[in-house]
Amino acid sequence: MKNRILIVGGVAGGASCATRARRLDETAEIIIFEKGPHVSFANCGLPYFVGDVIQQESNLTVATPQTFRERFDIEVRLLSEVVAIDRERAEILVKELTSGRTYRERYDSLVLSPGAAPVRPPLAGIDLPGVFTLRSIPDSKQIREWIERKNAKTAVVAGGGFIGLEMVENLVQRGLQVTVLEMQNQVLPPMDPEMAEPLQRRLRERGVNLALGDGVLAFEPSGQDGIVVRTSKGARHKAGIVILGIGVRPETGLARGAGLEIGPRGGIRVDSQMRTSDSKIWAVGDAVEVTDYVTGQAALVPLAGPATRQGRVAADVICGRVSVFRGVQGTAICSVFGLAAAITGASEKSLRRAGISDYEAVYLHPGQHAAFFPGASAIYLKLIFRRNDGRILGAQACGEDGVDKRIDVIATAIQKQGTVFDLEEAELCYAPQFGAAKDPINMAGMIAGNVMRGDVQNATWTSLSSNGVTVVDVRDREEFEMGHVPGATNIPLAEVRGRLSELPTERELRLYCGVGQRAYYASRLLKQRGYRVQNLSGGYRTFLSCRDSGMIESD
Ligand code: FAD
Repeated sequence: MKNRILIVGGVAGGASCATRARRLDETAEIIIFEKGPHVSFANCGLPYFVGDVIQQESNLTVATPQTFRERFDIEVRLLSEVVAIDRERAEILVKELTSGRTYRERYDSLVLSPGAAPVRPPLAGIDLPGVFTLRSIPDSKQIREWIERKNAKTAVVAGGGFIGLEMVENLVQRGLQVTVLEMQNQVLPPMDPEMAEPLQRRLRERGVNLALGDGVLAFEPSGQDGIVVRTSKGARHKAGIVILGIGVRPETGLARGAGLEIGPRGGIRVDSQMRTSDSKIWAVGDAVEVTDYVTGQAALVPLAGPATRQGRVAADVICGRVSVFRGVQGTAICSVFGLAAAITGASEKSLRRAGISDYEAVYLHPGQHAAFFPGASAIYLKLIFRRNDGRILGAQACGEDGVDKRIDVIATAIQKQGTVFDLEEAELCYAPQFGAAKDPINMAGMIAGNVMRGDVQNATWTSLSSNGVTVVDVRDREEFEMGHVPGATNIPLAEVRGRLSELPTERELRLYCGVGQRAYYASRLLKQRGYRVQNLSGGYRTFLSCRDSGMIESD
């Protein structure tokens, strides 16, 4: 008898599982059940369809049922919701959404890839017309139609995460005036606050109203088709349309109904082969709980890359291969108004949450390519590593160009359990328009390596105001006069050797410059002369981001 592989959900995880299974087993019977009207569509393109950057709806569909049938001999049943699993009989109950008819199908292996649903908290007025979430092609069409039909001029986007910010850009692109309501004090909550700051600056420069530290309380109708969004801080924002991007929740209804184990974070529990607590049932994608590759803790990480890789692992195992999913490190990127922000591995926030304190962070602001080549722009880069052995724990970057490449290199190093010394040694391609002979990756490794070897000691910007500390700005006088850290003394690098008598030997010196390089030179010379020196990593540029994101109190 043919091996019957039934798959619930036909997008990232489900579709990749189905096609991989076919490549491994030509004789299996493979059926995908998808409750929506599309299979294998590009969720990631939806915000850009709303913004008219992607103009044809057909460009959002990666494959059709016909493609699946003709290329892979895989049957796709659209508008077919799997409503129950009978584990005893190894059958699923399917409801045809067009006719209401239900029927049973037997499986040898069942794969659940039902994804995650946008969170819609039970707030007053949440079901008012004009309040949308975005998950499917029909959602994106409704948003487009609403904007056009109602001639919406203003929008509130609740939630400043990746999807929320992509929607902001696309709504602005369509000419709407946008307010972002974000409960946390920063956008892009997975990132550390100072690393999200450049993005916040860019959003404000482009006229976006950022209401941080404030959440939605209720929605009220206002005039014809307008909505007033009331917030927890008592503000009232009028909007022609509201987009909710306040997170997603794993779709676990089917799994719970079947008595499958659910993990502590609320996702379906699976082992490293993506098998659930039932040996005939696998689960992949946004619905499952994964192990954080860096902290080792259970996590929910709704991203397309892990979903497709998990689908592949499940297919491998179902077809008799040995395959293991390594865990998720949350590598993600988002671009807003030409500025990209990306993260991989742990942030300082996530390390603290996990109770891990044996780490250090360095900041740098190198050009994405050689400064002498036209078009050079800075990347704000933060590298986090373990203090005792230099193992890389995470990185974040923000910039106009070259951000993806640097975070991807570090992401790969993290997967290989690399150290900052590996980044020092990384051999990367270089010509002036692509990078630098000493690439930002090498520089990050060298700066962290200096810390590991004890050549430099770093102080954090948040401990700036400690007593018994003298802060020295080693930039040139003109730079100092244009703005400096409150209370800092200015001794330009070129004058340090001649003005040693002005520097106290009994107090700790904290040095900074523009981005970190001159302070490093100064700290080396002072350290060798017996001074107690610490560097404020990333220089004045990092100070501004820390100050503006509320991490340091300004005078
Ligand atoms: P999904 O892709 O959500 O697919 C699940 C499917 O299962 C759905 O189509 C659903 O209708 C169906 N289903 C659910 N229950 C049943 C049932 N009982 N019976 C039958 N069918 C069912 N990730 C990135 O990495 N980068 C991005 O840029 C990015 N952008 C995104 C933008 C948007 C607007 C959205 C919504 C998501 C984005 N994501 C992005 C996340 C990414 O799309 C998901 O992580 C990925 O699609 C998860 O795959 P999945 O198979 O688990 O679930």
